[in-house]
Amino acid sequence: AKKAGRNLFRVFSTDMAHLLSERLELESDLREALELGEFELFYQPQLLIDTGELIGLEALLRWRRPGRGVVMPAVFIPVLEETGLIDGVGEWVLRAACSQYVSWCKAGLRPPRIAVNVSGRQFLQTGFSESVSRILRDQDAAPTAFQLEITETVLARDTRHCIDTLRSLRALGLEIALDDFGTGYSSLSYLKRFPIDVIKLDRSFVSECHLKEEDAAICAAVISLGRTLGLKTVAEGVEESTQLEFLQREGCLACQGYLFSPPKSAHETAELLRERSCL
Ligand code: C2E
Ligand code: CA
Ligand code: CA
Ligand code: CA
Repeated sequence: AKKAGRNLFRVFSTDMAHLLSERLELESDLREALELGEFELFYQPQLLIDTGELIGLEALLRWRRPGRGVVMPAVFIPVLEETGLIDGVGEWVLRAACSQYVSWCKAGLRPPRIAVNVSGRQFLQTGFSESVSRILRDQDAAPTAFQLEITETVLARDTRHCIDTLRSLRALGLEIALDDFGTGYSSLSYLKRFPIDVIKLDRSFVSECHLKEEDAAICAAVISLGRTLGLKTVAEGVEESTQLEFLQREGCLACQGYLFSPPKSAHETAELLRERSCL
């Protein structure tokens, strides 16, 4: 038993050492990724439920890690946040979304509004709205062509400061979406306190809204609340037509999900825009 215990310990510590070195390598690769130009934005369409009109594209970050293919945000966003690297990457995301929008316009395409995810840390920084304004001005991009997605947990920290930041951003002309709505705390009071334009109904409610009464009730309540408060509601993670039918019956404005399209590269998204502008 003693021997077995020792072996177990050896296996365990080898695994731990392996994990630790993986993590250190991830971190050091991430430190260089921005400079080496390894980040890329993919875009996922948002469609009006009633007409199918393309009303938005959500920009989603990808990392082309040499020798490892495309790495998803779930793997590296937490590390960017813990290390503070998210500040630089977040700013890059805004610039990249802006310059993509401008270059699509120059190519004669008519992109819809682009929704950009903003991390809590980035949003709470002093001077965030000024930096957004500067980035847009640098590239001559219309603020009305952009939406920022923030999560409700961000708003829990410094109410006064958050309200001021949201007001400045909206005064510039940007739209604000509350992402992952319903997954945090005190969602309802947030809708009243914070100046926002859009609620994004979280995938965790949408994915079984056609199967479970509780999820259906939550979706219906959020959609109806949004309408009453004059907010747009976008359902995320729509994968099946029965979900779409349910959302349409409940009066949800727009949706996004694999049913229509997964997030795609800028190149593939341009094809979509080209098809649409030829219709
Ligand atoms: P999110 O903002 O909730 O983004 C939606 C996620 O759901 C995306 O995952 C998208 O690919 C995925 N998705 C879309 N439709 C479907 C569907 O029908 N079914 C399923 N199962 N999933 C669907 P992704 O791209 O892996 O991004 C994950 C999260 O990483 C995002 O969640 C967001 O919180 C974060 N993220 C992505 N890009 C950025 C960024 O540029 N900045 C920051 N701060 N966070 C980002
Ligand atoms: Ca989002
Ligand atoms: Ca979301
Ligand atoms: Ca989500």
